[in-house]
Amino acid sequence: MIDETDILIIGGGLVGASLAVALGQAGLTVTVVEACPLSVDQQPDYDERSIALAQGSQRIFSALGLWQSLQDEVCPIHTIHVSDRGHFGFTRLRREQQGVPALGYVASARVLGKTLLDQLDRLQNVRTLAPAQLIDFRVHDDGVSTRLMLEDQTLECKARLLVAADGAQSSVRDQLGIHSTRRDYGQTAVIANVTTGRGHENVAYERFTDSGPLALLPMSGQRCALVWTVRADQSDDIMGLDDAQFLSRLQERFGYRLGRFVKAGQRHAYPLQLLQARESIRPRMALIGNAMHTLHPVAGQGFNLGLRDVAALAEVVMDARRKGLDIGDNTVLSRYADWRQADQRRVVAFTDSMVRLFGHSLPPVAWLRDAGMLALDMCPPAKRWFGRLTMGSAGRLPRLARGLEL
Ligand SMILES: Cc1cc2nc3c(=O)[nH]c(=O)nc-3n(C[C@H](O)[C@H](O)[C@H](O)COP(=O)(O)OP(=O)(O)OC[C@H]3O[C@@H](n4cnc5c(N)ncnc54)[C@H](O)[C@@H]3O)c2cc1C
Repeated sequence: MIDETDILIIGGGLVGASLAVALGQAGLTVTVVEACPLSVDQQPDYDERSIALAQGSQRIFSALGLWQSLQDEVCPIHTIHVSDRGHFGFTRLRREQQGVPALGYVASARVLGKTLLDQLDRLQNVRTLAPAQLIDFRVHDDGVSTRLMLEDQTLECKARLLVAADGAQSSVRDQLGIHSTRRDYGQTAVIANVTTGRGHENVAYERFTDSGPLALLPMSGQRCALVWTVRADQSDDIMGLDDAQFLSRLQERFGYRLGRFVKAGQRHAYPLQLLQARESIRPRMALIGNAMHTLHPVAGQGFNLGLRDVAALAEVVMDARRKGLDIGDNTVLSRYADWRQADQRRVVAFTDSMVRLFGHSLPPVAWLRDAGMLALDMCPPAKRWFGRLTMGSAGRLPRLARGLEL
């Protein structure tokens, strides 16, 4: 028997699951195919990392009715403090200057994943197949036929639209022959939760050091989520330190703004790359999230950008459905591709230029960037622009990202 579904999503990570929630709530039939078991304990995307959610993402979760269950689990960011270790430059971004209750919110990927999965469980028109794999697909005029592997069974499934949300190593992207540009940053992000001697007062710190940026994001209690970027050849050394050595090395890098670091939780390491797919659509196919763009975590933008892909794709699909049009038609998908281009380019360029600019140790470059940071600190319009960018509020926003229903 051939199964039919409106939307087939390959990949049930944070981005794929968000799209399934958005379109499932809107009444479409959705099938999610995920390679790993889809439970909070076993899904690698729902791990210990902390995600800084921009204001725009908060509005999307609100519009999807998920914020109520998230709000007690997140920590608001009131101020972002950016500094350059060993140099004079710094800048601060405050919520009052931006006229918002918070610049963003820190949430654990595990909590986000659980909230999304709980919601998927409640939607009768959403089906999750996990652990499962896409074997192959064929595109027809009216849909895409796929063969899926679920445990040791082969399942045939036909969809109006297939969405690749299968991450940086996207096999759908490869099978489509979509080229991508890739750059290995030669850096690794080491993450851990740390307890500090002094309260964070809802300040998110981003400190650029000669080995890479170091972020400390506020969490509940006297804890911060650390994202410490080190050169790839240093990561084994950092991961191998005992807790006392690790905290002392961190203290030396960050300084004493948060008092003495008291305790560190379990560490995890993520090698970092920049990846950008050259195309975001093909007939009856769309790419979203990390499958489309994988970023350096320096500015905390990857998931936020992926969530705006979700909001835009869900909007064009639902607009088409309401008009009685074919939701997988090329005109519908082209609206998505054209709409997302500017935001994707802007965020990739912003993130990548931060890594490059702060990666330079040449004195004239360091002087110029520090002068730039101080100028930004003193120039309210430039700060508002910078704020809109980091809060995910730049450009034409989809309805969900404005807090409206789909
Ligand atoms: C250290 C670190 C810190 C970060 N901090 C932030 C932050 O503060 N703010 C922010 O916005 N972003 C942040 N990010 C980025 C964010 O984590 C990612 O952008 C986001 O998780 C990407 O989600 P995704 O669902 O697109 O991709 P993935 O997380 O890669 O999910 C893809 C899913 O597809 C599944 N899959 C793969 N292949 C197949 C297949 N063939 N068939 C079926 N399923 C398949 C995988 O199992 C996986 O579940 C951070 C990233 C890192 C590494």
